Amino acid sequence: MSDINPVIIIGAGMAGLACATWLHRAGRPVLLLEAADGVGGRVRTDLTPDGFRLDRGFQILLTNYPEARRMFDYGALNLKSFRSGALIQLPGGEETTLENPLHAPLMAFAALASPIGTAKDKLLIGKLVAQLAGRLPAQLLAQPAVSTLEFLRRFGWSEQIINTFFKPFFGGVYLDRELNTASNFFEFVFQQFMQGAAVVPALGIQQLPEQLASRLPVGSIRLNTPVQAISEGGRLVHLANGETLATAAVVLATDGPATARLLSASPGLPVAAAPATLAARVTTCTYFATAGPAPSHGRRLLHLNAQPRALVHNVAFPAEVSAAVAPAGQGLVSVSTHGEHGLSEEALTAHLRTELAAWFGPVANMWRHLRTYRIEHALPVYTAGQPVQQELRLGDTLFRCGDWTSYPSLNAALGTGRQVAEMLVG
Ligand SMILES: Cc1cc2nc3c(=O)[nH]c(=O)nc-3n(C[C@H](O)[C@H](O)[C@H](O)COP(=O)(O)OP(=O)(O)OC[C@H]3O[C@@H](n4cnc5c(N)ncnc54)[C@H](O)[C@@H]3O)c2cc1C
Repeated sequence: MSDINPVIIIGAGMAGLACATWLHRAGRPVLLLEAADGVGGRVRTDLTPDGFRLDRGFQILLTNYPEARRMFDYGALNLKSFRSGALIQLPGGEETTLENPLHAPLMAFAALASPIGTAKDKLLIGKLVAQLAGRLPAQLLAQPAVSTLEFLRRFGWSEQIINTFFKPFFGGVYLDRELNTASNFFEFVFQQFMQGAAVVPALGIQQLPEQLASRLPVGSIRLNTPVQAISEGGRLVHLANGETLATAAVVLATDGPATARLLSASPGLPVAAAPATLAARVTTCTYFATAGPAPSHGRRLLHLNAQPRALVHNVAFPAEVSAAVAPAGQGLVSVSTHGEHGLSEEALTAHLRTELAAWFGPVANMWRHLRTYRIEHALPVYTAGQPVQQELRLGDTLFRCGDWTSYPSLNAALGTGRQVAEMLVG
């Protein structure tokens, strides 16, 4: 395709940035139009006036993601890793620590003292690890799926290990405690945890998109530039400010709901190309500051809650992993809760304090509430029967990418962006 106009990519989230990166590497001019005031989409970090760096929702990068390995310069990101494993609060209130459960499962679960799982459960963890060891990620994703819960039961695990390990651990990854998410994605994520580390850039998760943006030519990203409509099958882009831009092709790298809105505002475009469902996982992340170090003794472990009706799903202490995210002498607490709770921010904070005080002691009542992020459309729902990838080419000059066209992960956003770039270059 030869055209002096750039390829216009709508949305500078991970999918749009990946697409732009690969096009730029191939020598194609690109223009990214982003509605928000920064790049990253759902991967953003806020710097507060008193010096905390708050990710908009608890989020990690798994270093083995195939697309991330192709895309990022890990060294320049100054990655900081969580310890492999988790500290789990059991239904009775006691705590247990699982060190390396997916890297060294027999040691982690087989300790006689471990209250998680029966002897058979422990052997089955080793069996799945062995089964997944030699498989390619793409093979795992391409498999027919059932729900993760159904997969776990068919594999033979007891309800006890499902409730005390799988629901807290993978429910946190999916933002779906009931484990309705499809089992092909479960096997992929399980393998990624087995083979890589869970990390965050030292200065917050937004360093990931910032690294990609920094490699693009100056002037190729326009922030605060919402697109209103597309016409001529992808040859013209109409901005909310009244401007019209001519393009070589348009790539919709918008999230699911924004894509549906754009297509319905763009007569002549295939409305059927919008997401079949806009169902999404909701999450809330509440941050507290601690005076002095947080009460987890520098262990860099994620804290998971296996108590069935609790609102607190998982707790992290990000400043233990990267000291740069809190001012000197203070600690940071990130508390995630998933799904709808129907509480105002004030009522939620009060409720969380009660649960946190029961877990970490009365000191939790002294933690200073910093900010609450409620993310309505955190992840697209991905259940058994959904295709692992939808059609990305909508016409000769119109394409789409993003996690909602595939499965709910950074890896899918990066991968679909790359594939669209390859279609445009090829
Ligand atoms: C709290 C949370 C935790 C997560 N945890 C993980 C995790 O641990 N591991 C993992 O792999 N994934 C995780 N994810 C998922 C991951 O962040 C997403 O899959 C990924 O960022 C999606 O990228 P995207 O480019 O497809 O979409 P988005 O990031 O949604 O980007 C779409 C972009 O389009 C822009 N846009 C929309 N409409 C317009 C318009 N009309 N004009 C111009 N621009 C527009 C938006 O502003 C946005 O920047 C998490 C997500 C959240 C929210």
